Amino acid sequence: MKYISTRGGMTPLQFSDILLEGLAPDGGLAVPEQLPQVSADTLESWRGLPYADLAFEVLSMFATDIPADDLRRLTRAAYTQQIFNSEDIVPLRPLDGGLSLLGLSEGPTLAFKDMAMQFLGQVFEYVLSKRGTTLNIVGATSGDTGSAAEYALRGKKGVAVFMLSPHGRMSAFQRAQMYSLQDENIHNIAVRGVFDEAQDIVKALAGDLEFKTKYRLGAVNSINWARIAAQVVYYFHGWLRATSKAGEQVSFAVPSGNFGNILSGHIARSMGLPIRRLVLATNENNVLEEFFRTGVYRPRPAEQTYATSSPSMDISRASNFERFVFDLVGRDAARVKALWASMARDGSFDLSSLKPQFEERYGFVSGASSHDDRLATIRSVYDATGVLIDPHTADGVKVARDFVEPGVPMLVLETALPAKFSETIEQALGRPATPPGNLADLESLPQRVETMDCDVATVRRYIEAHAKV
Ligand SMILES: *Cc1c(COP(=O)(O)O)cnc(C)c1O
Repeated sequence: MKYISTRGGMTPLQFSDILLEGLAPDGGLAVPEQLPQVSADTLESWRGLPYADLAFEVLSMFATDIPADDLRRLTRAAYTQQIFNSEDIVPLRPLDGGLSLLGLSEGPTLAFKDMAMQFLGQVFEYVLSKRGTTLNIVGATSGDTGSAAEYALRGKKGVAVFMLSPHGRMSAFQRAQMYSLQDENIHNIAVRGVFDEAQDIVKALAGDLEFKTKYRLGAVNSINWARIAAQVVYYFHGWLRATSKAGEQVSFAVPSGNFGNILSGHIARSMGLPIRRLVLATNENNVLEEFFRTGVYRPRPAEQTYATSSPSMDISRASNFERFVFDLVGRDAARVKALWASMARDGSFDLSSLKPQFEERYGFVSGASSHDDRLATIRSVYDATGVLIDPHTADGVKVARDFVEPGVPMLVLETALPAKFSETIEQALGRPATPPGNLADLESLPQRVETMDCDVATVRRYIEAHAKV
């Protein structure tokens, strides 16, 4: 399988080539030239496979340049009971009202980013060692992505991670998660500033081509195709666990921000998985909900992006959305290019003429949730079932309830565990959420972090002194 750009300006490349790149050279995103199709018979033959082997089956259709035995070894190393604290890796639990919870947050950082990152860590190390090269990952995080990347890449050969975080602005639990890592290839840098300033430093370093080339800077951001491909696996897994025979339909509800998670659902559905609906849930930052309701895509500037109690969804410019629009306009790269040009000019584009297709052809429906909705949903699910859900998952449950249909299981993706966002749980239920047993002492472990001024030159000097060569 070869990959092309959504804007048409990239010579087709293999999986391993796009793995280490960010944006395509024309500013677009890499997508498969053609999506693989999975027949009903093949799907039935996957019933009962352990998660790691299902991941091998799905990923082997995307990573066609990695020999099968090697890929199977990578998926078996990524998806173990030990890393995911669960025999199923992704457990399925019933809730009330026809809903079930697909547990994507059993990994080391208690959020669904681990599902893709653990595979990415394995495949990065593999490809770098094959090519005899190294990579220095530089990123900024306000919480979930940075820690998932660090846990996936800790101790891996040929790769170092430099993760900038805003000094004093993460929760005690999030700080402890990242800063307690003692691996020599993990560098936590706390900058005296806010997240956007940390992000600006990363952009400045990546924009300095000489520095970028000399130190082989890389990224693990949400547009990485390998992450999207790894996420496709759990839609197959969820369908296989929720059905008993071929052709049965399942709907999925997805708490969304950058459109990465639900894009993987769209890919799975396009590959032939019998998904009835993809229910997109946003919080108050409802740019995507607005698009699916009106057909107009209008990203918002940072000052119009609210800080909410489901903070990992506080995103107003969904970086993966372009891949869905590419399909929506019939994979017409020239049209995608024109749409993004008009957005740069006018701040929005209008695809309302295609609106009838959103649901009929692609199964997409959407809804938004508020802080009060989250509190009420956390309470109602707890009262009805005894299950404690996190605020992001609560956004998904709230919106999913409007789209439940008799005879169609509705699987809500659990994108984080409640212990990660305990303040909101306390507000909803009057008591905090406790972390899983193995993490009870996390906050008392020794921490390893360099604190420095929010200054490009200072961070650059630190990277020069500690980079993998
Ligand atoms: C990243 C994240 C999301 C949003 O996922 P996208 O792929 O960006 O749409 C939702 N919930 C949690 C807890 C997250 O960490």
